[in-house]
Amino acid sequence: MGMSIRLHNTLMGKLEPFVPLRPARVGIYVCGPTVYNHAHIGHARSAVFFDVMARYFKFRGFSTTYVRNFTDIDDKIIERSRSLGLSPGELAEKYIISYREDMKLLGVLPPDFEPRVTEYFDTIRSMLAELIKGGYAYISDGNIWYRVRTQADYGCLVGSPLGENVTAGFRIPIQKYKENNRDFVIWKRTDDDTPAWESPWGRGRPGWHIQCVAMSHSLLGSMFDIHGGGQDLIFPHHENERVISKSLSGLDLAKYWLHHGLVTINGRKLSKSSGPPARIRDICLRYHPEAIRLFLLSTHYRRPIDVTERRLSEAASALDRFYGFFQRLEGRVDLKNLGSGNMDSYPGQFVQEIDNDFNIPGSLAILFTSLRRFNSLMDRNGGYEGLTDVDKEGIRNLFSICRNLLGILADSPDQYLRKRNGYSKSNDFPRVDLEK
Ligand SMILES: [Zn+2]
Repeated sequence: MGMSIRLHNTLMGKLEPFVPLRPARVGIYVCGPTVYNHAHIGHARSAVFFDVMARYFKFRGFSTTYVRNFTDIDDKIIERSRSLGLSPGELAEKYIISYREDMKLLGVLPPDFEPRVTEYFDTIRSMLAELIKGGYAYISDGNIWYRVRTQADYGCLVGSPLGENVTAGFRIPIQKYKENNRDFVIWKRTDDDTPAWESPWGRGRPGWHIQCVAMSHSLLGSMFDIHGGGQDLIFPHHENERVISKSLSGLDLAKYWLHHGLVTINGRKLSKSSGPPARIRDICLRYHPEAIRLFLLSTHYRRPIDVTERRLSEAASALDRFYGFFQRLEGRVDLKNLGSGNMDSYPGQFVQEIDNDFNIPGSLAILFTSLRRFNSLMDRNGGYEGLTDVDKEGIRNLFSICRNLLGILADSPDQYLRKRNGYSKSNDFPRVDLEK
């Protein structure tokens, strides 16, 4: 052990050793969903990966604060609430409940904090005042714009700073009311009867980017360890969060910026998906939620995932192998008192893989090797009773890894089989037999 965790930092464009801002502590902020509909498989990827990440930091002895927000007011929420005859608040509440149900189904532990934008209006208002006072923002036609030219390194997260002249060659006329095309809105004037807050600048709503800054600063401080999200959030959302925050504190918002790859369904982009439904609750009707977890974790977080029936079925088969092993040991291993396991006795390679930029697929390969090894040891030695104490301890650790870190094997083999056969009936799965 003793090796350090290494993370791919989008800000530096490379792998870096993880050195927390404060010893043995880690603060993580992940941009959560805008709640105007049920969550889809793309939301599941983010939630499952960062769930395992937060569990792992705790595992490694870090005092962990994990924050994932809800964007509970925005144009899409207002639009959809009108079409459904609900207030935006009612619509948001409905889908926050739905999101939490889906996360529970997937075995995603609740983060330490789940702030909602509408609870942070006072913070946003004082941030706006400070930005205007410092010359980082200006009011034009009732909207407040962030003045991008105040940050020489604007564009850092994308890889190279986008210089002042980046748009010089473009034939885009400067938008009316903006000083510069790159300036973005941090406060939108509201004239109609849509939800809005009173402010010294009139009635309006905060822009998306400043919302996350308000919530992360309030809960984690003006600089924290890890900021996460999908690669589609790098620009403009995260870059804009970064410069707003820098204007307020002089610091980068986060030390490490982690971005997971995007999810497609049968090759189609989720945002433009007109294909099969990708809602978590629909997929869970046909696959065990733990199979969906395994599926999502079987690809390195930085790589894209294409959701196909074939790959979901492969994950379901992989889960069968875990439960088949579980069935063989049921009643023999005391699973009630697994605790969080003893890190030092975990297979060293397993830990090394996760330490290496969360190579969970690599760690899963090691778990499967262990499964095969324990199975053949039991075959040769007359079952569990014939194993050495060291191997029995190894099996307990394997269960601890599965349950506490990966979030699988939460069912009993019986429960699993019942559910599994239910899925089989509705889906022409081959009948499952967990007996070896
Ligand atoms: Zn955000």
